[in-house]
Amino acid sequence: MRIGVVGAGHAGVEAARVAAEAGAEVHLYSAEDVLPYFRPRLPAVAFGQDEPRAIQMRPLGWYEQKGIQLHLGAEVTALDATTQTLALGSATARFDGIVLATGAGPIVPALAAGGGGRLLPLWCLSQALAVRAQVKPGGQALILGGGILGIEAALRAQNAGMAVTVVERLERLMPAQFGARASAALLGLLQRQGITVLLQRTAVRAGVTAGGEHFTLHLDDGSVLSAAVGLLSIGARPHLDVAVAAGLVTQRGICVDACLQTSAPRVFAVGDVVQVEGVTRCSAREAAAQGRLGAANLVAALQDRPLTAYAAEAAPLTFKTPEIELYALGQPAGEGSQEWLLDASADSALRTLALSGGVVTGVQMIGTRREFDQYADMVRCRAEYPQQANA
Ligand SMILES: Cc1cc2nc3c(=O)[nH]c(=O)nc-3n(C[C@H](O)[C@H](O)[C@H](O)COP(=O)(O)OP(=O)(O)OC[C@H]3O[C@@H](n4cnc5c(N)ncnc54)[C@H](O)[C@@H]3O)c2cc1C
Repeated sequence: MRIGVVGAGHAGVEAARVAAEAGAEVHLYSAEDVLPYFRPRLPAVAFGQDEPRAIQMRPLGWYEQKGIQLHLGAEVTALDATTQTLALGSATARFDGIVLATGAGPIVPALAAGGGGRLLPLWCLSQALAVRAQVKPGGQALILGGGILGIEAALRAQNAGMAVTVVERLERLMPAQFGARASAALLGLLQRQGITVLLQRTAVRAGVTAGGEHFTLHLDDGSVLSAAVGLLSIGARPHLDVAVAAGLVTQRGICVDACLQTSAPRVFAVGDVVQVEGVTRCSAREAAAQGRLGAANLVAALQDRPLTAYAAEAAPLTFKTPEIELYALGQPAGEGSQEWLLDASADSALRTLALSGGVVTGVQMIGTRREFDQYADMVRCRAEYPQQANA
């Protein structure tokens, strides 16, 4: 039984492990030329708070010991889904089954090219090292995007001794997780930390200053910012090229059934690249869980055994640093739902729920995780919130 795994992130490495432990001959292909690493720890590397070696998932010997043939710097350029054949340029390799785990990549707007290499995304190790080369205590850092990744980068840049400005296009921070009230509390926290936040501003053009030691960012209100390093943190898109060219059914991600099988038999897909029940996710924990199940199901399919359905349990957002603690699960309050304040304290702790027709659809907490798990369970089972009793 020969299995090819495309992509060696959180999903791909777990898929390779499970397939190898089931006795398959496994080839794991990574477009990156370094040992697979924990992607969530890239910001720490970028700002000099961790070393690249410390974020490796496993040492090289582990892959050898498991019998996984790891191909680094090996970008799969095409898939023939009928014959389960992978192409790497002109070379091809044929398998009994394939796991696609190509993850997602950052959205890079055209204006980034004007930044002279100082306005960078932070999605892979080479980018983290490129950022790190420009981090200087006392310098200015500019973060484009006020989502959780942008906020983490802002705090880490500040810890590295930089002055930090965050630019966000929308009217509030972390709009994917927080309603208006929670976002406002987060804004206050960051401002008290000394981080400048510019809301409802869009970058329109980037340039380089004379000498090339800074880049400039022109905003839609006519203002011009200048910084030594800039991070693009405005979202990500699944890597779909190989799947699309192979004729697999894709929408926002690769469409998979409940068992993580794509529209082609013997081709499974796992991690950030997939769309399960119409939803794409960005979660290392879920990617690893899908990697394990996708590989187990592929092995089962090859052995004519029944497959197991993926039980998606959305992982809560958990972000904790000495300065700030953020927790969220489910939808933020917005159109059609109400932001319900559980409590707010003078020391900036705040707990809110999103209620939709009386049902708890989201929970958000800042500075505390008191009773978070109970509320998270209410979100998961769409429990009714007894508002009257607490009003
Ligand atoms: C800065 C940052 C911080 C994050 N923080 C958190 C966090 O705190 N918690 C959390 O849960 N998640 C976090 N995430 C998200 C998390 O890293 C992803 O959800 C997770 O990495 C997804 O795993 P994956 O295996 O699906 O894809 P990835 O980890 O993206 O791995 C995919 C791999 O496939 C490779 N690849 C793509 N195409 C090909 C090809 N054709 N041939 C060969 N290889 C290919 C890519 O180069 C990549 O190495 C963070 C992400 C970033 C960028």
